Amino acid sequence: MKPVIALVGRPNVGKSTLFNRMTKTRDAIVADFAGLTRDRHYGSGKQGQHEYIVIDTGGFEPDASSGIYREMARQTQQAVAEADVVIFVLDARAGLSGQDYDIANYLRRLGKTCVLAANKAEGMREGTQLSEFYELGLGEVYAVSAAHGQGIRGLVEIALEPL
Ligand code: GDP
Ligand code: MG
Repeated sequence: MKPVIALVGRPNVGKSTLFNRMTKTRDAIVADFAGLTRDRHYGSGKQGQHEYIVIDTGGFEPDASSGIYREMARQTQQAVAEADVVIFVLDARAGLSGQDYDIANYLRRLGKTCVLAANKAEGMREGTQLSEFYELGLGEVYAVSAAHGQGIRGLVEIALEPL
């Protein structure tokens, strides 16, 4: 069984852009992924000898009345349950938000292995904005640019390492 990586994060941080970077297929053939729920975007990727499955948890629309937990309950929760590792995507330009804390607490409660990716970090000086993301208390933060394809190999390597 290939390891499964779920991409989690608030809307607009670049999850789908990262998904496209990490997969050859934009919208993978679901038949390849027997046993996984079908209402999300699955893709397959390969780095070196290592093949993996990625789940893009995009698609949920934020709704002020329902709060982040309810939104996440729909797609993200199941994706996270299916995943061996979570890539928690953050926006290096926007910085930390309340929703990021909610997601961090949620992931911490589940005890899932997660890797923090500060996206949109192209052209930013090393460490400039990243230090605040350490406040989430989920360990190392990796600067990436999904749009420019920077830091993606390293990120995937780190995500797959413990698997
Ligand atoms: P999602 O809602 O988390 O799936 O985010 P999307 O992948 O749809 O991206 C949201 C917006 O951020 C789009 O306008 C993307 O073009 C932009 N974006 C994604 N990755 C990057 C990046 O690495 N750098 C910059 N500057 N913009 C990005
Ligand atoms: Mg998306």
